[in-house]
Amino acid sequence: MTPPPSAPVLSRSVTCFGVGEGWPSGDRRHASFLYRCGSTTLLLDCGDGMSNAFKAAGIAYEEVDAVLISHMHSDHVGGFSMFVQSLWLQQRRRPLPVYAAPRAIAALKNWLAAVVLPPELLGFEIAWRPLLAPDRIRFGDIGVTVSPTSHLESLRRSFESRYPATAFEAFSFVIEGPGFRVAHTADIGDVQDLRPLLEKRPDLLICELSHVEPDALCAAIKASPPARVAFVHVAREHLESSQGVEVRLHALLDPVPFSLPKDGEVMAF
Ligand SMILES: [Zn+2]
Repeated sequence: MTPPPSAPVLSRSVTCFGVGEGWPSGDRRHASFLYRCGSTTLLLDCGDGMSNAFKAAGIAYEEVDAVLISHMHSDHVGGFSMFVQSLWLQQRRRPLPVYAAPRAIAALKNWLAAVVLPPELLGFEIAWRPLLAPDRIRFGDIGVTVSPTSHLESLRRSFESRYPATAFEAFSFVIEGPGFRVAHTADIGDVQDLRPLLEKRPDLLICELSHVEPDALCAAIKASPPARVAFVHVAREHLESSQGVEVRLHALLDPVPFSLPKDGEVMAF
């Protein structure tokens, strides 16, 4: 059978399904990233619109080895049930490990039942795995180090007593294997959250730019510079600034190379 014409599969790459932030956007999908590390494929977050991006990229529905959910904001998990529906309709058969905070797992199970995707229907097993931090998960020769971030801490203080079933945990990740290390912030709350990601120099830092001011963020990055940075989840106010976000980032970050990937972009590492 002739494979469909598509870009060659890079042995180590991250496909940006969605580089949008939490605000609605007409031209950016919400957070979702597919990491291909040799024979291991990890899907990090399932923001709204990712099923569409996944289909458009021509990726096999059996390929994903695990899903990791950084936190429960809709711009990171709003596409999850549609992705599960896609896997059901495309007749995936392999079990799919899904890593999320323990209270998030309970919520996602209920949500899948509510959208009429009970486990008995799916034809494949979702293997729920509690995501804890700090922790290290192994996928063959790939290690994923999980660190807590302070992204939801102020909301936790305001609402946890009234909503004890809500998962207020948020995580960042370092994905490493033979010859590479990539750090992925997901959503942070403070520059201190970068510390565990930059401790050992990453080849690539996928960094959000919504919740920390660019000056403080770039100063922290420059203090322990990765080989390069890709800014995602960039706040609309930065993209619309008259100065131009690239010019500003260049001034703040030079000489650390950086990019602002778009939806669908594939970056090798
Ligand atoms: Zn977000």
